[in-house]
Amino acid sequence: RPRVLSGIQPTADSFHLGNYLGAVRQWVALQDTHDAFYAVVDLHALTVTPKPEDLRRRTRVAAAQLFAVGLDPERAAVFVQSHVREHSELAWYLICQTGMGEAARMTQFKDKAAKYGESSAGVGLFTYPMLMAADILIYQTDQVPVGVDQKQHLELSRDLAQRFNSRYGPTFKLPNPYILKEVEKITDLQDPSAKMSKSSSSPQGIIDLLEEPGKLRKKIMRAVTDTGSEVIADEENKAGVTNLLRIHSALSGMSIADLEARFAGQGYGAFKKEVAEVVVDTFAPIRERTEKLLADEAELDRLLAVGAERARAVARETMAQVRDRLGLLP
Ligand code: ATP
Ligand code: MG
Repeated sequence: RPRVLSGIQPTADSFHLGNYLGAVRQWVALQDTHDAFYAVVDLHALTVTPKPEDLRRRTRVAAAQLFAVGLDPERAAVFVQSHVREHSELAWYLICQTGMGEAARMTQFKDKAAKYGESSAGVGLFTYPMLMAADILIYQTDQVPVGVDQKQHLELSRDLAQRFNSRYGPTFKLPNPYILKEVEKITDLQDPSAKMSKSSSSPQGIIDLLEEPGKLRKKIMRAVTDTGSEVIADEENKAGVTNLLRIHSALSGMSIADLEARFAGQGYGAFKKEVAEVVVDTFAPIRERTEKLLADEAELDRLLAVGAERARAVARETMAQVRDRLGLLP
């Protein structure tokens, strides 16, 4: 079976709709056909120095949400990144293979660094993509289901794998991105030019999976559209409406063309109302299951320990070879 790996950062108290449609829903589908490894990437979250109690809580919430959306601990290894120490180790080896210019080209770094100011942004944000490459390469991953914002990091992972293989001998598989065009970038409800993001969207711009139905409805009704009234997909002129059409279509299974026909002449109000219902219907059971899973912390931690054990077994094997190839003494 081909292998799949992906990760999500515990940088907020819930996943959002972009994480769900762009990534996590594919994770669930792929666990049936792939040897699946999915991580709550807490080491990545450390790049923005969260409070320890926040990180601890968010890591458990993230894990509970992963099980709640349908990841099955029997089929997929669901684990916490820091539990498999080899990720940090391989990240260092890959940092040593990366050029400064190459790392400086990463647009996510540039965006995140701009937020803090170029010189006060942490070095961890700069080396983040090499840690991500380690996450992927350590499992000899074939496919990496992500949103389009991670495409550049995936290209770097491939480049690093290739470079390592040619310098030290064949060691890593070259990973491929698995990106679904229709949901590759769900945008912020208040700013349809920006991706919905855990750490940079405003509360009004983000749809959290764990949000109360009343609040969800309000936010969707207030989503930025445009001065027109036609419900049609038009990326250039109707980015907000197009985003809502994508969301409806992805959750309801109806095609965008069918939705355009269905809402012809009805205006934005009726359309948004239905989008809200489709979102609420999808999220309600996930929210309920998440709460149940969080109520039994010991069991949740046990599931994560099982996942980490499976991940470690693969990581260890890769690392023994990597150390030897680099010339590190046994
Ligand atoms: P942060 O703002 O802290 O970086 P995030 O919202 O970008 O958080 P991540 O944990 O970095 O979330 O990403 C988890 C997965 O979700 C990745 O595969 C990423 O590509 C995907 N993803 C994130 N935002 C979106 C979005 N708006 N649309 C589609 N996919 C997304
Ligand atoms: Mg992100």
